[in-house]
Amino acid sequence: MQEISSSSDSLVKLDQGASSLDLTWQDKTCSTFHHIWLRDNCRCKTCGDPATGRRSLRLTDLALDIKPVAASLSEQGDLCLTWPDGHTSTFSIAWLRRHAYDTLSRKSSAFTPVLWTEGTRSAPPRLVFDKVMTDAETFLTMLHHVRDHGLCFLHGAPSQAGSLEPLAEKIGPVQESNFGRVQNLVVDETKQSVANRTVALKPHTDEPYRASPPGILLFHCVETDVTGAGSPLFMDGFALAEQLRAEDPEAFEVLTRHNCTFRRHFAGDVDLIAEAPAISVDEFGNLSGIRINDRVAAPLAIAPEDVEVHYRGMQRLLTLAEDESLAIKLTLRPGDVAVFDNHRILHGRTELSMKGRRFLQWLQVERGDFHSTMRIMADRLETQRGIAPLLRGAY
Ligand SMILES: [Zn+2]
Repeated sequence: MQEISSSSDSLVKLDQGASSLDLTWQDKTCSTFHHIWLRDNCRCKTCGDPATGRRSLRLTDLALDIKPVAASLSEQGDLCLTWPDGHTSTFSIAWLRRHAYDTLSRKSSAFTPVLWTEGTRSAPPRLVFDKVMTDAETFLTMLHHVRDHGLCFLHGAPSQAGSLEPLAEKIGPVQESNFGRVQNLVVDETKQSVANRTVALKPHTDEPYRASPPGILLFHCVETDVTGAGSPLFMDGFALAEQLRAEDPEAFEVLTRHNCTFRRHFAGDVDLIAEAPAISVDEFGNLSGIRINDRVAAPLAIAPEDVEVHYRGMQRLLTLAEDESLAIKLTLRPGDVAVFDNHRILHGRTELSMKGRRFLQWLQVERGDFHSTMRIMADRLETQRGIAPLLRGAY
């Protein structure tokens, strides 16, 4: 055991156990670091390149019961370890604190979504398109809105087709889907997708029948239906899920534990089937994603004793998704853009008319690219990266 008082505020106690080191932080909390974890994560240049994250050390070259022959805290507050073969590892206390994996540390660094309030619905995040395109700070603000609220609206974009791609490409590579790179949404009854029909679409998440559903969706209004038909609406799927958890914890739990089955079948073209829960949670029960879309529900195949509870929960969730008092309802104008997280936000629209012409363009960007751009932009602007890890998304 060793106690040192270093720089300003890091009084740390070090205890060596049979298979781990225990560090006690100044706030009296304690984090355990296993010997094998410490050896595996050595920060030295021989073991890897901390700048790129590339590791040259191989786990297969390590003894699982490896144990340091010496462990001490330096004057600078670094943890210094010497291994049986003479190799030395040095960890800064700040780095160890950031990567501590005890329950309290994992729990406090887990992404905990903040649900929409009445305030979010009446005044959702809204930015000027040009400013997002030209000003790095405004662009990062938009990314943060999507991270924190699941969506951000922009206004003042050009009302020409093709205006959305430059914005999408700032976030990440545009992902192709079976609708193509850019999806043009106009009324076209010859198309198989209901998005091209006139019917109202109840709020849903897109393409849950994919192993990985689209992450960040962007749409751009090029032309508005003069009759006002086809107004989009958005809902916080997490707020709906939390309401279900409060009302009926048993049903919530069943919806997180069992898979729904989703399918899209266009004969001779695609037959996409995915089995995944409607509600995804992390190890602490924080919401991490949703898949809600009963138009593509395929026969459920779960443990018989949970079927009735599942139906009860799913029906309540879909009923909540029809409660327009929980939605943001928009009047679309040419040049309006919405950027939203398809793993959290449900979107829908009122019925379209054949009189007016409504023309939207849709694009999608993978959520990993969105997160990467947010980190890179934060570094470029020398601001805090904020919460890490980020919202994982639906399983
Ligand atoms: Zn090393």
